[in-house]
Amino acid sequence: AMAAKVLVIYTGGTIGAVPEDPANPFSPLRPTDKEPLTRFIPNPLDGIFWHITGLTDDEDKPVPPLDSSSVGPKHWLWMTRTIHQAYADYDGFVVLHGTDTMAYTSSALAFLLQNLTKPVVITGSQLPIFKTRTDAIINFTSALSVAGYKANGLPCVPEVLIAFADRLLRGCRTTKVSTSRWQGFDSPNFPPLGRFGEHIVINSDLIRRIPDTGPAAFYAHNRLDSRVMTFPLFPGMQPEQIRSVLSLENVKGYVLRTFGSGNAPEDPGFLAVLADAVKAGKTIINVTQCFEGKVEMG
Ligand code: ASP
Repeated sequence: AMAAKVLVIYTGGTIGAVPEDPANPFSPLRPTDKEPLTRFIPNPLDGIFWHITGLTDDEDKPVPPLDSSSVGPKHWLWMTRTIHQAYADYDGFVVLHGTDTMAYTSSALAFLLQNLTKPVVITGSQLPIFKTRTDAIINFTSALSVAGYKANGLPCVPEVLIAFADRLLRGCRTTKVSTSRWQGFDSPNFPPLGRFGEHIVINSDLIRRIPDTGPAAFYAHNRLDSRVMTFPLFPGMQPEQIRSVLSLENVKGYVLRTFGSGNAPEDPGFLAVLADAVKAGKTIINVTQCFEGKVEMG
């Protein structure tokens, strides 16, 4: 088998956390530096040579490991930049990330990184890597195996993925479904792209295809507009409540999470509020609250 080179970007999360007070194992967990992560996984791992780095900001200064609740658009751009700069030097990429907002990050990276020809695999864990019962070692190893596909004869999956527990999921189709189960993630509206069991099995029919004529040039977006918000409809919502949300001055776009296949109350007051917002130049995207299926406009 060939050797593979993988860049691991450690952003924080439970996977790299240790008790805040080293003398008290029950004190709150805080993400720590990358050192413990290098101690528990061999390097090379079955022919996969991996290099671990942290996030750096716009001035190239190191960013301390974060609880993923604090991760947002600027961090997504920093991750994107790191991958973009190192793109030619590695066969694949692994992002170690807290589980809480991992699915937001995987969705964002899937759109920020265009025409990928290499895997970008995001993972984390429910328990820190130093714990005896940890899921970190299996998750990290699975992610490295997919990113370093060259070394173990797996197909290249040229997209942004989440590797977690026994499944490889499409990054922009995934959501966190459990705070504590090993299977913390699911992709309810699209089948898994792969399975981790005794063997790693990739479903080649489902993975993003690179055109036969060759890949289009890889590029990375370097800007995001944060003047966006999401909000769910709920029974009992008053037109005036939604009017104040839709008139926020520094919000241009709304992701409105509607009922079922895109339904909303028939109340004319409610519909008038939406129509006024659109007239005022707001963009409203209709998505469903359901985990499966899609909106049918009209
Ligand atoms: N609060 C942690 C985080 O998202 C949870 C985890 O990693 O599982 O950073």
